[in-house]
This record gives sequence, structure tokens and C-alpha cells, in this order.
Amino acid sequence: MGGLRIAEVIPPIDLGAAEIAVRALLVALGQDPDSDHLRETPRRVATAYAEFLTPQAFELTTFPNDEGYEELVIARDIPLQSLCEHHMLPFHGVAHVGYLPDQRIVGLSKLARVVDRFARGLQVQERLTTQVADWLQLNLRPKGVGVVIESEHQCMTLRGVRAHDSRTITSALQGHLRDDATARLEFFALTRR
Ligand SMILES: [Zn+2]
Repeated sequence: MGGLRIAEVIPPIDLGAAEIAVRALLVALGQDPDSDHLRETPRRVATAYAEFLTPQAFELTTFPNDEGYEELVIARDIPLQSLCEHHMLPFHGVAHVGYLPDQRIVGLSKLARVVDRFARGLQVQERLTTQVADWLQLNLRPKGVGVVIESEHQCMTLRGVRAHDSRTITSALQGHLRDDATARLEFFALTRR
């Protein structure tokens, strides 16, 4: 068994300062933060954002691929939520993460942890997709990695053009899944709804 601890970059969050800033935002938006309804809002908002932005530490536990398993391993429909860096509004959906094993295999729940690790922060979906793929390629060293993310952005569905039910799909491929057309097709066939 091998363990690899993800180097954490925890942002220095100042909850008190965030609370004051949310209060100021409410005032700027013509709201009364001293009303009964809003009194606790600055604290709640600050806490919620701190949670969105704080990655959870975990260990990537890997095992030797003793059986010599050579086919695709895919974790589908991993729930995902993140914050769009352009509007600080949530986007949420699912990630499908697959890899072609080489020397090591990994517990499937850990693939979900990797997605969550990079989702906690101000993100754009394209970068999030690439970060998950690159990180797995670098740390698990499989023959290939594929990541597909499908999500709904509230900045798109709730405001602006109000494109209800519009989903954004991104993908990132590494190694054999990128270079080999057959492997790539198989990966996309298995991740399609
Ligand atoms: Zn946005």
C-alpha cells in the first residue's frame, strides 16, 4: 500500500473580516443588515464561503496492480460543486473520472476526493477538469487519465440569459487516452449518459 498526502494550500481565511465585508455588501446593495432577518446573514455567508474555499486534506492510497488489470477503471457521476470565479456563484454537476492502470491502482472513493479537492476554490470548469486529470497523471502514474465534467452554472441559469437546464461539458485526457483513438472512444462511450 502506498500513501501520498496532497500538499494543501489552505487560503488564509479571516472570518471576521469576511463578515464585515458581507455586511458592507448588504449596505451597498440597499439592504439593512441590522434588520431581524439579516442580522445573522454576514456570519452565515462568511462561514459558507469559507467552506466552499477550504480544501479537505486526504491521503491518496494506492495499491500494487497485482492482478495486472489493464482495462479502463471509471468512477461515474461523482457529485461536484464549486464556485465560479467570475461571479462567486455555485456551479454543480457530476464528474466522470477514469484511468488506465499501470503499476498502481487506487481506491475509487479517492477519485471523488481528488475532484472535491480541486472543486473547493474559485474555479472555472475548464481549469478544474484539467487539474484533476493532470494531478492523477502525475501522482498515480497510470497509462492514461480521462476526466469529463458536466455542470450547471448558476451565473448562467439564474441570471443573464437564464439558460435553464443548460449544462456545460468539459473533458481532459492524458497519456494513452489522449493519444489512442480507440481508447479515447471507449472512454467517451462509457462516460456518456
Ligand atoms: Zn459565472
